[in-house]
Amino acid sequence: MLSARTTVAGVIGDPITHSLSPIIHNAGYAAAGLDWVYVALPTPEGSAPEAVRGMRALGIAGLSVTMPHKEAVIASLDRLTPDAELLGAVNCITLADGVLVGDSTDGAGFVAGLAHDFAFDPSGSDCLVLGAGGAARAVVLALARAGARSVQVVNRTASRAERAVALAGGVGRVVGPEAVGEVDLVVNATPVGMHDGDGLGEAALPCDPARLHEGQLVAELIYHPLETPLMRAAAERGCRTSNGVSMLVHQAAIAFETWTATPAPVPAMREAVRAALA
Ligand code: NAP
Repeated sequence: MLSARTTVAGVIGDPITHSLSPIIHNAGYAAAGLDWVYVALPTPEGSAPEAVRGMRALGIAGLSVTMPHKEAVIASLDRLTPDAELLGAVNCITLADGVLVGDSTDGAGFVAGLAHDFAFDPSGSDCLVLGAGGAARAVVLALARAGARSVQVVNRTASRAERAVALAGGVGRVVGPEAVGEVDLVVNATPVGMHDGDGLGEAALPCDPARLHEGQLVAELIYHPLETPLMRAAAERGCRTSNGVSMLVHQAAIAFETWTATPAPVPAMREAVRAALA
């Protein structure tokens, strides 16, 4: 039951009506018995500064940030975490003691998802990321932080690939698509294979699956559909595969814990996503 004491959190973006974040966070509040509520706040492009001022004025405890505001909110915040600073992007704002802090939780959420889905620790392993956009950059940084032996990037636009591998320091390098067969972990961080993704068609593949082989892990960032053409093709080649649900849940769990100072009930949050996507 909402009351005059209920703490408010939410997500800003445009479009936002498709967002699963309210389902994930509210399932978490219910399971943890917290008097919190999380709402979607449609926020048109160009109005990020007003939205952040409103957050402070209204005492909204936490805001998730999605397209098109991940970069635009930065100028309105008091402080960034090291990850948000390096990535130049924020997906989570915390208001604590009047101070607005911007963070990027996607990379840490992705690595936590690898542990859940594969019991896999990237330390000492060779990893390859397909794509070099916002999500890929977060994953590249997180894999390097987690101690990967190499973080390789394949991307259509070479200049973006170069900028992404710079986040991995000495272990980062730009490679060609043939390298997918030579690594422990392949991550698809392009929208290729996504339902309604760029009109690409649901049969599209982001790499040549004939190069994949048994023993490799193939992680999708896509969660709609739950099984992509890449996952199907990789499984046929003997790879273990996962979709983007774990990253989605774990990046939300990190925000949940930062805002509420309460352990996130991850199984309940995951179940809510599964039910919504089923
Ligand atoms: P983005 O910033 O637009 O980047 C897209 C990347 O994919 C770019 O590197 C782009 O290459 C590449 N790409 C796009 N279309 C392509 C095509 N037809 N062939 C080859 N490469 C193509 O997008 P994003 O925000 O990083 O999101 C990427 C994917 O991750 C999306 O599917 C998104 O839904 C998913 N995602 C999942 C989560 C989660 O929690 N599971 C979180 C964030 C994102 P160029 O540089 O050459 O344009």
